[in-house]
Amino acid sequence: MNNSTFPQAETIEHIRQNLATVRQRIDQACVQAGRDPKDVRLLPVSKTHSAEFLRLAYAAGCRMLGENKIQEAYQKWQDLEDLTDLQWSIIGHLQTNKARYVARFATEFHALHSLRLAQVLDQRLTLEDRYLDVLVQVNTSGEKSKYGIAPEDAPELIKQLGQFPRLRVRGLMTLAMLSDDSEAVRGCFIQLRELRDSLQAIAPEGMELKELSMGMSGDFELAIAEGATIVRIGQAIFGARSQPDSYYWPQ
Ligand SMILES: *Cc1c(COP(=O)(O)O)cnc(C)c1O
Repeated sequence: MNNSTFPQAETIEHIRQNLATVRQRIDQACVQAGRDPKDVRLLPVSKTHSAEFLRLAYAAGCRMLGENKIQEAYQKWQDLEDLTDLQWSIIGHLQTNKARYVARFATEFHALHSLRLAQVLDQRLTLEDRYLDVLVQVNTSGEKSKYGIAPEDAPELIKQLGQFPRLRVRGLMTLAMLSDDSEAVRGCFIQLRELRDSLQAIAPEGMELKELSMGMSGDFELAIAEGATIVRIGQAIFGARSQPDSYYWPQ
């Protein structure tokens, strides 16, 4: 996907229009897949955009924003603390020593990848007297550089996650291969769905692995066809980013 195909949103009205267009495309993809559009949530991803710009997103109707880097998200949360009903979803790799920031303000975390991180998050959440919705990130592309747990290690982690009362485990997340080969991308989405289905059978009692967070600006229709329940979309709403993707993802 060529980033220049996404024009910069500059006003509340631009953002509102882009949200509506993306939502329409989501609904269409659902209808085509025989799915209920209510079962797919649009998570706008606001990384790289300033706190001041995010006030426009809020005015355009956004009440939850996805951010990849915790320091960047934490700063924006502080700058926008007056918007008390704005929630934050952390979707990028998190080092254990930064878990306390997530515990302080995030509603949702999509990139849980280890037992150690789960332990520290749970401890920090207890101190903050907060709860966190979490998704386990799975490396479905097989690329060594990608974050997330290997699919074969997921069952053991899922079994262990029942011991953390502050974590509400909701499902799985993946970043598909960045490729023009749509069948290879589709393969990543299918793998995540099939893994979710098999993990549900061994999940601790009371844990419902309902969510599949998969699909971005370039591939969300394909992800919906394969069962996505949350699509994480930045550029198609806010415009092309100035930073290359390598700033956010290991290459
Ligand atoms: C940036 C990002 C997205 C959104 O990508 P777009 O191309 O802007 O739609 C989705 N998921 C993660 C983990 C991201 O870092």
